[in-house]
Amino acid sequence: MKLDVALIHPPSVYDFRKSPSYASMISEVIPSMYVFDMMPYGFLTLATYLEKNGLNVAIFNLAAKMLKDRSFDVEKYIKRIEADLFGIDLHWAVHAQGAIEIARIIKEIHPESKVVLGGLSSTYFRYEVIRYPFIDAILTGDSAELPLLRYIEEGPERTPNIIWKDGGKIRENPLSWIPESLDEFGIDHEFLLRNVKKTRDLAISSPFASFDEAPIAGVITMKGCPFNCITCGGSRFAYERAYMRRKLAIKSPEAIADEVEGIARISKMPIFFVGDLRIGGMGRVERVSKLLKELDLENELIFEFFTPPSKEVLGYIRRTSHSVYLQISPESPFEDIRRAFGRPYTNQSLEKMVSNSESLGFERLDLYFMVGLPFQRREQAISVADYFRKLREISKRLDSFVSPLAPFVDPGSRAYMDPGAFGYIITLRDFEDYRRALLSEHWMNSLNYETRWMNRREIAEASLDAYERLLTERYLQGIVDEEAYELAMERIELDKLVLDRVERGIPIDDLKDRIDELARRSDARVKKGLSLYPTSGLAERIRNPILRALITLVR
Ligand code: SF4
Repeated sequence: MKLDVALIHPPSVYDFRKSPSYASMISEVIPSMYVFDMMPYGFLTLATYLEKNGLNVAIFNLAAKMLKDRSFDVEKYIKRIEADLFGIDLHWAVHAQGAIEIARIIKEIHPESKVVLGGLSSTYFRYEVIRYPFIDAILTGDSAELPLLRYIEEGPERTPNIIWKDGGKIRENPLSWIPESLDEFGIDHEFLLRNVKKTRDLAISSPFASFDEAPIAGVITMKGCPFNCITCGGSRFAYERAYMRRKLAIKSPEAIADEVEGIARISKMPIFFVGDLRIGGMGRVERVSKLLKELDLENELIFEFFTPPSKEVLGYIRRTSHSVYLQISPESPFEDIRRAFGRPYTNQSLEKMVSNSESLGFERLDLYFMVGLPFQRREQAISVADYFRKLREISKRLDSFVSPLAPFVDPGSRAYMDPGAFGYIITLRDFEDYRRALLSEHWMNSLNYETRWMNRREIAEASLDAYERLLTERYLQGIVDEEAYELAMERIELDKLVLDRVERGIPIDDLKDRIDELARRSDARVKKGLSLYPTSGLAERIRNPILRALITLVR
C-alpha cells in the first residue's frame, strides 16, 4: 500500500518477545498490557486532520499485533508499508526503548522516507533523541496536527514546533503553535474502520491489543490541567514549563457531543471521557449533560473527576446515559499523603461522593490508589484494602484498584524537576538511562525514583502486598470471580519470585516460558475478571452487520 503517512505505535520494548521481563503489574489499571500497547489518542486526531486535508494515512499498532501474534515478523511487515513519512509516537517515556528501535528498523528498510517522532517525552528529551542518525525530525509540544501537515507540504523551515536535521546541523523552530480550542481537532471514529480496510488486519489496526475482546472508545475533553499532582507530566507545572502551554485547551460541549454521536452511530461500546468536565465551568457540565441525554445513548459512559464533585454535578452526569460509571483517584486513604501529592481533598468529601453515587444510581464508582507517594510507608500503602472495606459499607457499587507509581516519575513534573522538595530521589536522568532501565528483568529495576520513606525494593514489595490484600478483599466481597482471583494471585507469586531472584543475582532464564505464558494468558483474562470497565466483544458492540462481518474476516 502506498501512503503519505504511516503512524506507528511501538511496544515499550523491542523485541519484548525475546527478553524475559516481568512487568504485568505496572499496566494493570489501564487497558494496555505490559508492553503499553495502547496507542495515544493523538494518533486519531492526527489521522482525522491529515485525511481531511487530502492525505492518505494509516495507523499500525505494532505493539498490539506483536502481542496477538507471537510469530509476527515486524521487519517483513514494515518492508510492505510504502510511505513518504513514518510518524512514531514517543509520548510516554515508557516507550523510550521501543520507539527508538522501531525508528532504526524503519530507516534501515526505507532510507528515503522521513522518520519523525512526536509526543511529550520526545519533546522533553528532544536534544538527545534528535542525535540518533535515523531520526529526521521531532515535532514538539502537545499538538502535532498543523505542524505535521506543514512539514509534509512545505518542509521544516516553515514548520512550527520542530527540531530537525539539516545536513550536519541540528535546527529548531520554537514551540509556538499551541491551540487553545480542541474543536477543530475532533476524531472521526470511522477512521478506525477505514484503517481496518486498508491494513486488512484487525490486531494491527486496534487501539490496543484486547480491543477485540473489550473495546472502549475515548473522548478527550481538554489538553493541559489546572492541577499540579507532583509526579504528573501532564500537570500545569509541566505543561507551562516543558510544553509552553499557558492556557488549557477545552473541547466545547457541542464538539464533545458530536464525537460521542460519531461513536454511537457505529458502535455500542463504552465511552471514556478524558478530563474533568467541571473544568470549563458549571455551564459546560449542564450543556454536555443535556446534549448527551438528547442522544439517548445505548453506550455505557465513564467519567473521571479530579476532586469529589457535588451532588448537583453528579445529578447532571447521571442523566447522560442509562448506565454511567465514575472514576476518581484519591491515591491514598490518608489525607496528608493525598495533599502532599497534590490532591487537596478530605476523606469526608470523598465519602460524600461515594454515598451520592449510590443514591443517584450510578453503575459503579472506581477509586484508584497508588504506592510510591510522599510520606507513604509500607503500613500506609497496604492499608488501602481496609479503607476500601470501610467504604463498601457505604456503597456496594464501589470498586477499587491499587498500583505502583511506575515505572517513572514523569520527566518535567515538579517531583522530577525539584525532587528534594518533595522527598523524592530521581535515579535516571539521561534518555539512554531510560532505554537501558526498560530492559530490566523486573519492573522494580526500571523505576526512576525512590522516596525518603521507601527505597525501590520497599516500593515494589509494598505494591505487591497492597495489591494482594485489595484483591483478596475484592474476591471476598464477590467483585472478582474465582478464576480471575487465582490467575492474579499466580501472577503476584511469580512477580515476587522474579523480584527475589533478580535481587539475589540469580538468572531467571528458566522462568521465561512461565513469564511469557502467564503474562499472555492472564493479562487479558485478569483485566476482564477485574473489570476495569464494562466489557463484551467488539462484534457484539458494532451496529452494522456488514462491519461485523468485516471484523470477523480480518481477525
Ligand atoms: S494526575 Fe493530577 S495533574 Fe495530572 S492530569 Fe490528573 S489531575 Fe492533572
